[in-house]
Amino acid sequence: MALKHPRHDGRGERDLQVNPIFSREPVEVPRYALPRGEMEPGTAYQLVHDELMLDGNARLNLATFVSTWAEPEALRLMAECAEKNMIDKDEYPQTAELEMRCVHMLARLWNAPDPRHAAGCSTTGSSEAAMLGGLALKRRWQRKGLKGRPNIVMGVNVQICWEKFADYFEVEPRYVPMEGDRYHLGAPEAVALCDENTIGVVAVLGSTFDGSYEPVADICAALDDLQRRTGLDVPVHVDGASGGMIAPFLDPDLPWDFRLPRVASINTSGHKYGLVMPGVGWALWRDQDALPDDLVFHVNYLGGDMPTFALNFSRPGAQVVAQYYNFLRLGFEGYRRVQQTCRDVATRLAAEIAKLGPFELITDGSAIPVFAFRTRDGAGFNVFDVSAALREHGWLVPAYTFPKNREDLAVLRVVVRNGFSHDLADLLLDDLRRVLPRLSAQPSPVRTADDSGGFAHGAETKHPTTPGRH
Ligand SMILES: *Cc1c(COP(=O)(O)O)cnc(C)c1O
Repeated sequence: MALKHPRHDGRGERDLQVNPIFSREPVEVPRYALPRGEMEPGTAYQLVHDELMLDGNARLNLATFVSTWAEPEALRLMAECAEKNMIDKDEYPQTAELEMRCVHMLARLWNAPDPRHAAGCSTTGSSEAAMLGGLALKRRWQRKGLKGRPNIVMGVNVQICWEKFADYFEVEPRYVPMEGDRYHLGAPEAVALCDENTIGVVAVLGSTFDGSYEPVADICAALDDLQRRTGLDVPVHVDGASGGMIAPFLDPDLPWDFRLPRVASINTSGHKYGLVMPGVGWALWRDQDALPDDLVFHVNYLGGDMPTFALNFSRPGAQVVAQYYNFLRLGFEGYRRVQQTCRDVATRLAAEIAKLGPFELITDGSAIPVFAFRTRDGAGFNVFDVSAALREHGWLVPAYTFPKNREDLAVLRVVVRNGFSHDLADLLLDDLRRVLPRLSAQPSPVRTADDSGGFAHGAETKHPTTPGRH
């Protein structure tokens, strides 16, 4: 099966229509086949450039968590590093050095007990980092020599990468469903699904569904208690894709990181609130014990002895360099100001939306700068109508239903990123006010989840596990 965009079947008969525009010699540009010969670089550039004109305006995209803006200096460094391959640590030792400096900075930021002995690496994003974190948990469990099927415990709200990890690496996923107004993993609910074959519990700092922090410290305390009662020692991996770069700056007193001895590993997305263009992520382990050394391969065919723990081999170095640039450029105080501004914009926008009348907040933007809201019962329109109406004004604000046991709940979500200013928030509010009279005049909701165009970014439905029935 070929992977394809749903709107296109790849069998287009028509070539690209170009000749009158360029008034060059006739060029034939097949749409889905490799052209027979060459064309001028200028023509090729203009063709590709023009095709991309219809992509969305990234600054109006309130769906994605991923950076859509970077400083010109960061972009310049990335262009200067275009040829650098992260795996060639002998050819590019300085890029490798910058990667290690970033790992050490993160180890300190996340309060590793002995940051010089924390282990870590860059990845292509949090998804790859999650695979590595999950594999380390699985290998540690395997070393116990138990015969059962390994399982991993997490909230039904986890990002889709954890569902992939469980599927690709054959670990049974145990999802704790939502219940009432608990929209993420709860401590007693997590413990109830643990047994001797549990490789770990995943706690999310910044849920994709509503931006809330999961109670990492409570989950760890409940697992400490489980160990006292039963001897079961279940480690925790924190998925800090977003929150790993928010909490250290804005919530320094919140213990969610390596201050909790049960937290074995943490991932974050450098290309989310790390403020780097896609794609870079980070995976860190609290110490060498948490990362079984038989997962780390040593290769010598690029010269030298090189340890590698990654799913990819070759991978761009530019994003890692840009991460280091951001760390230098902003420092702790710079990151704190950027993230605080995002939180200020998110909480104010959420409060203003709550004042409009027909909406009710699920979260208010005070954890990661992301919030979700619903339409009140009895409104003549639903969240899908609102998403579609805003889209007419160029805004991408996703609408989706929650998973089990709150499938009845449908929300809109706003992700505030660096560059989404108070001014842009006001423009969004203006457009929201503009569409409300029309929507309110509808006798009943028009759109459904099928119209919403699939840009929920990992907030997809999974099937939870009932305690005692796995
Ligand atoms: C975005 C996200 C991921 C996936 O991260 P990528 O960097 O896009 O691969 C995983 N977990 C959470 C909580 C996320 O928000």
